[in-house]
Amino acid sequence: MLYQRSSALFKEAQNVIPGGVNSPVRAFKAVGGTPIFAKSAKGAYVYDEDGNRFIDYINSWGPMLLGHAFQPVVDAVIEKTKEGTSFGMPTALETEIAELAVSMVPNIDKIRFVNSGTEACMSAIRLARGYTKKDKIIKFAGCYHGHSDSFLIAAGSGAVTFGTPNSPGVTQGTAKDTLLATYNDIENVKALVEANKGEIAAIIVEPVAGNMGCIPPAEGFLEGLRTVCDANDMLLIFDEVMTGFRLANGGVQELKGINADIVCFGKVVGGGLPVGAFASRNEIMNHLAPLGPVYQAGTLSGNPLAMAAGLAMLKAIKTDKGLMNRLEEKTKYLHKGITEALSKNNVTHSINRIGSMISVHFSDEPVVDFESAAKGNNETFKKFFHGMLSKGIYIAPSAFETWFITDALTYQDLNETIAAVEEVAKEL
Ligand code: PMP
Repeated sequence: MLYQRSSALFKEAQNVIPGGVNSPVRAFKAVGGTPIFAKSAKGAYVYDEDGNRFIDYINSWGPMLLGHAFQPVVDAVIEKTKEGTSFGMPTALETEIAELAVSMVPNIDKIRFVNSGTEACMSAIRLARGYTKKDKIIKFAGCYHGHSDSFLIAAGSGAVTFGTPNSPGVTQGTAKDTLLATYNDIENVKALVEANKGEIAAIIVEPVAGNMGCIPPAEGFLEGLRTVCDANDMLLIFDEVMTGFRLANGGVQELKGINADIVCFGKVVGGGLPVGAFASRNEIMNHLAPLGPVYQAGTLSGNPLAMAAGLAMLKAIKTDKGLMNRLEEKTKYLHKGITEALSKNNVTHSINRIGSMISVHFSDEPVVDFESAAKGNNETFKKFFHGMLSKGIYIAPSAFETWFITDALTYQDLNETIAAVEEVAKEL
């Protein structure tokens, strides 16, 4: 596979864009080599500037649940564009998507749309602090909630890939209000709450972690968080930016039957356009401006093109009763195929999967939290990544990321992927 044009474009980009990219993990810094410059994508495939075709397991980091250039989304955006691209005034469309989202997700009365997952999580904790009148929050090591200051403390995803989980520029004052807990360790959470009695506004958690690879919640972990929050007047915030509208129509709240107090969305909810959202019950959401004192706003929030894309996406998910099952079956098939291919070649590994999220860790112990995720063999991962890329399979360029399975993948694509793993495994 040749990447001449991507290479040249990367060089040019570095002159005018820091590191040549508008989001760090795209730079391939963790795995080395030239980032692939995308030209177009359709269904399960992404095509680069050199004319290479890849089976895509990143899928824009999650949004493309139904494949790239999904026709209903494309049509909705084209039609909306003709009527104007932004008004800064309310539109009927915003109510329509809000009604649909509220009908799909359990335990929420109202939702507000923003422009990214970062904004959703940032706004959710401001709301939680305003509502509870307390300052501190608990987050989990290895969880990523976007790049707002409070969350760049032992964050996952790109923040850990580049070895800077605590970013310069985040003040001590901000950092002291973020308490760090260990994922899947409820006793650790209880101890933190005990040590900070009456000061904690909320616990924010990826109810299925996806930013240190994919780590499902241990039995009883989410229930434990719910109980601790109830006992201490703290809000439970589910960051469902990855999991929302992906693991179930109603996200992990529906999947695991646990109610969160505030839920954050991103990725799938925008159908590939820049959208995030946060939602809760009336008594909490009514604290937001203009009804209440907690301020939150956005010039392009509820943008008509973004809302049209999101609405088309959510409608497609809601009406397709077999979707979640198909996604699960495809991912399970891939899981089995990769396990066999790696085992046959004696490659030490551990695979985590839930629904259509899966990650391959080159480690011989179960990956249940950040510490165990960090034990994976990074050299093996790099070889695996480049091996797969050379065979036309595009996975995330970091061991701390999840593969996002799209319904556009055929079993032939999956077989091609498994065959590639088998070939690459011989060289590991
Ligand atoms: N929360 C989670 C769980 C995420 O995975 C991400 C992004 N990967 C974010 C928040 C931030 O979303 P965005 O990149 O849209 O700001």
